[in-house]
This record gives sequence, structure tokens and C-alpha cells, in this order.
Amino acid sequence: MSSRFLRLAQILVAFVTGGFSGAVAPAASLAAESASAAPIAKGRVRALKITLLSTMLADGDELGEWGFSALVEVDGHRLLFDTGANKDVVLRNAESLKIDLTTVPEMVLSHWHSDHVGGFTALREAVRGKAPAALARTHVGEGIFDPRGTVSRGVEINPLLLAKPAYEQGGGTFVVHAQPVQLYPGVWLTGPVPRKFPERNWSGRAERKTPAGFVEDTLPEDTAMIFDTAQGLVVLTGCGHAGVVNIIDHARTFVRPAKVHALLGGIHLFSADEKTLGWTAERLRGFGVENFIGAHCTGVEVVYRFRGDLGLDRAHAVVGAVGQTFELGQGINPGGIAR
Ligand SMILES: [Zn+2]
Ligand SMILES: [Zn+2]
Repeated sequence: MSSRFLRLAQILVAFVTGGFSGAVAPAASLAAESASAAPIAKGRVRALKITLLSTMLADGDELGEWGFSALVEVDGHRLLFDTGANKDVVLRNAESLKIDLTTVPEMVLSHWHSDHVGGFTALREAVRGKAPAALARTHVGEGIFDPRGTVSRGVEINPLLLAKPAYEQGGGTFVVHAQPVQLYPGVWLTGPVPRKFPERNWSGRAERKTPAGFVEDTLPEDTAMIFDTAQGLVVLTGCGHAGVVNIIDHARTFVRPAKVHALLGGIHLFSADEKTLGWTAERLRGFGVENFIGAHCTGVEVVYRFRGDLGLDRAHAVVGAVGQTFELGQGINPGGIAR
């Protein structure tokens, strides 16, 4: 078999096994599946809209919860970043906001915590019958499937590890990233983030099983999305357990050392002490953050504090709410309650 024919056969198999139904565009290029594939040339994002689908605060007909999820629409691609905590909240909020999830082929899961993967199985099941390729490819950071335990160490508590077999049997594919990757021109996943600064932005005492035994779970897989735009970097985090400063500092090494045009999502500072908040604000100011949606575990007080510390006003720094959007060129549309 010639290599050219083999390549064609691989593409056909990918379409068949990917369940390409015509309802959605084919998902990421084959390059995303293989670490050995040639990288995409660095590009810039032209059109970007991010809509919050799960966070604590909600307007009107939508539901709030302790969780996080956002729809990313970027240069014709649609991705669901995290899936909320309860199995039906993102589904209901998407319906209420008239967002059709059957046209979203890909997901990104930031980390294993149940407030980010709680809707994962139900969302895929809700769209699979109508559109087999919808939500069928899921990008994650290496370490997300490591077994997790508590002090008792007896019971598996990683819901994603438990959900993996059924997702794969139903035609879903996980793409595990150990390094930063550019999914589309200017659209990046950090993969696991080096912990250069000693940020400890997580709660709880879960333990992660390694070949050497149980260790403290520092969420090594914690992955953020970075969008490289003409206005600077747009950073989307789930809980930001790797530390928001570590995430941005790392992104500036592999994307480019640009200012941060927008920081959106959860950065898990709601219970941080004064010293941590001061240190973090100083660095975010140094990164030139111009827009800030502090959603989920950021902390309400922290958003208002950072609004002042970063020299922003109420149009450029808001508490995250379901239905809220950030759009390149338009800025933040805060919705009703967060206005
Ligand atoms: Zn978390
Ligand atoms: Zn969280």
C-alpha cells in the first residue's frame, strides 16, 4: 500500500470512527491526535466569543451552581470548555440561551474536579443520538485520569476516570496533552503548567495515586485555554489550580510575551489570604490585564478588589454570570445582575 493511499485510508477511518454525520464540521485536525504530527504554524485568532454556561451567579431563566462551563466560538470552531457540576445545568442553560450543543464537536476539560466534569456524560448522551460527532472529542491535560483518593484511600473519587469507558464505548475520544498545543491557529491549550511560583490555589485534601504511592493532589493536569489575538492574549481558566500567575507566565513563554487582553474564568482565590491577593494582583497588573471576568471560584470580593488593584472599571471587571459574554472587539457583555 502506498503511503499516500495509507494516508487517505487513515482520513476515511477517522471520519467513520469520528462519527462524522454532516451535522458538524470535522473536529480538530488529525494532528491533534498524534504528538508526532507536524505542528501548525503560529497564527492569530480573528473572531472570538466566549459565553458562560455554568458559574455561581445567573440571570433570569438560567441556573447558577458551584461549577464552571463556557462555550468558545473561535474563527468558525466551537468548543465546550468544562461541563458544570450538576448533570443537567449546562444543558438547561444552553437551551435557555438558545445555544445548540449538537453543533459543538469538541470539549476541553480543565481538570478532574466534579464541579467541572459533572455534566460530561449527560451532555454527550443528550447530543449523541442527533449528532454522533457532537462532543465526541475531548481534550485533557496529562494526569487527569490518575486515580484519586481521600485519606481513607479506599474509594475511587475521580468521576472522569469512572466515566471514561462509557464515553469511549459510545464513540468518544480523549486527546491527552502533556505539552502546550495549538489546536487551531492562535488557539492554544496549556497542558500541564509548570509550578514556577509557589501558588497553592486549590482546596481540599484529595490524594493522587502515583507509581510511588499516594501524594498530595496538586492537580498536575490543570489546563487553560489561551487565545492569541491582535489585542493580546485571552486566557480562559476553569479553577486555575495551577495558579493564575503560573498559567499566564507559562503561556507567555510558548505563545508570545504579550499583554493579557482578557482573563476569564475561575482562579480559585475566594479563600486566599491578604498576602496572596496582594502578590497576585501585583503580577496581574504587570501582565497588563485589560478585561476580567472573575467567575466560579474566583471570589466575589476578589473581583472587586482586583478591579481596583488593576485600575479597571465596572465595564472591564465583573463577577461572572451565566449568559455573560466576552467578545473580541466588543468586550464584556455582563448581562443583568453583574452589570
Ligand atoms: Zn477544581
Ligand atoms: Zn471548580
